[in-house]
Amino acid sequence: MEIKITQQAAKRMQRGYPLLQKEDLLDRIKENEWLDFIDKQGNLVAKGYLGVQNNGVGWSLTTENRPLNHAFFVDLFFQAKEKRRAYYQDEQTNAFRLVNGAGDHLGGMTVDKYGDFVVVSWYNQTLYNKQEEIISAFKEVFPEIKGIYEKLRFQTDQLQSRLLWGICAPEPLYIKENNLTYAVYLNEGLMTGIFLDQREVRGLFATGLAKNKSVLNMFSYTGAFSVAAAAGGAKSTTSVDLAKRSLKKTQEQFAINQIDIEQQTVHVMDTFAYFKYAKKKNLAFDCIILDPPSFARNKKKVFRVAKDYGELIEDSVAILNNQGIIMASSNAANVSSKKFQSMIETALQNKKVAYKLIKKFHLPSDFAVDPAFPTGDYLKVYFYQIEKS
Ligand code: SAH
Repeated sequence: MEIKITQQAAKRMQRGYPLLQKEDLLDRIKENEWLDFIDKQGNLVAKGYLGVQNNGVGWSLTTENRPLNHAFFVDLFFQAKEKRRAYYQDEQTNAFRLVNGAGDHLGGMTVDKYGDFVVVSWYNQTLYNKQEEIISAFKEVFPEIKGIYEKLRFQTDQLQSRLLWGICAPEPLYIKENNLTYAVYLNEGLMTGIFLDQREVRGLFATGLAKNKSVLNMFSYTGAFSVAAAAGGAKSTTSVDLAKRSLKKTQEQFAINQIDIEQQTVHVMDTFAYFKYAKKKNLAFDCIILDPPSFARNKKKVFRVAKDYGELIEDSVAILNNQGIIMASSNAANVSSKKFQSMIETALQNKKVAYKLIKKFHLPSDFAVDPAFPTGDYLKVYFYQIEKS
């Protein structure tokens, strides 16, 4: 089947930009089709599919005229594996991303390796309809994998998480990263216990960025940043997360790394309530980590990175020691680096403090970004040193 797209979309696609929006389409076609995208003159532009997901309605997978069959997916996975050769050779780390959607010319899915197991995430129904063919190609290129879990990250009545093939992973499964150990659970909803895209940032903490410092880790989830900071010699860590599960999970991470828990505190608490509590108790920290979800709701308010990040910065400055460090992080795809930086710096200016940007991170190279699709690099992590006069 073919679908006509606008000249503008055709030009973008020829240059390698893979994502389609509704307004790019000139024909009305069922949503879940595998298609040839053609220009007004009827020339082939690219091959791909229509599938509605959070950020668009379809993907081009190749501008070459070749069938999207088993051999195509084998080639694609083979290239993805080649790209990650250095990660395979790193003996200190065994969890990383194997396939990063459009960054590996396969918009609509990601694959993460956790030791001998993988988690495949599907972002739309159309690609999922080819699941059997895609997974069989995957197994051919990655025969060493013992079990495949899948997560369905699109609107569906089906189970969101399940073992798709092979043997079950132990629960928890211990993975290695920068020589630290993290407990992950591959079949507990959509999240596994660790966000692999922050590996390099955890690495910076593990090698002593917060040595002898008191660290406050907001939105701490399973406490991965706290563990890395403690392992890197932090004087103390305080982890704050609203979810009840975070207490047990964070304690578990400390325990498996043999970190003395005496100097580690975990609060199951709302971040904004904690800011108030800390102020009342005259607590202050040398390093504050802010890595919130793009969108969060508590009983009292809705928090959106795109609107409210400045508030987090201002509240942090109030409980930060002089020469302290704020790590400002966000994975919100709708907030550009420029906007993020300006939100942070406006807030710092409001608080009338001097600041210096000392370190910056984006996605690590296993989270491959296609230069033709730079918005694929959603991660922004900025370290600021703050001087309070
Ligand atoms: N920084 C973490 C990942 C954060 S995931 C890491 O590197 O592993 C987002 C977390 O924010 C979730 O665990 C969620 O429970 C928590 N959260 C959401 N809203 C919150 C709020 N208002 N106060 C505290 N935690 C919140």
